[in-house]
Amino acid sequence: MKMITGVSKKHNSKWRLYGYDYNEDDKLVFQSRRISFLLVWYYKLKRIKTYNDICDNCLEEFRFHSTRFEKKPSMCGNCDPDFYD
Ligand SMILES: [Zn+2]
Repeated sequence: MKMITGVSKKHNSKWRLYGYDYNEDDKLVFQSRRISFLLVWYYKLKRIKTYNDICDNCLEEFRFHSTRFEKKPSMCGNCDPDFYD
């Protein structure tokens, strides 16, 4: 799975992984799949969260996706496009 947005368990059933992955046409599509509970901690660490921040350069509010341990951008996509490659 390319981008993991959630890991959850519903109604005491199986753990499921939610996120985006490439389909046969190379497009990112929302998917969910069943995972073993042994992998829950692993996927939770890789989960992507959405953050809001203020750009250091233009002072506009911007939004970015990141896992907990990645470096956080201090500028928006307009001011620092390299960061978002
Ligand atoms: Zn900016």
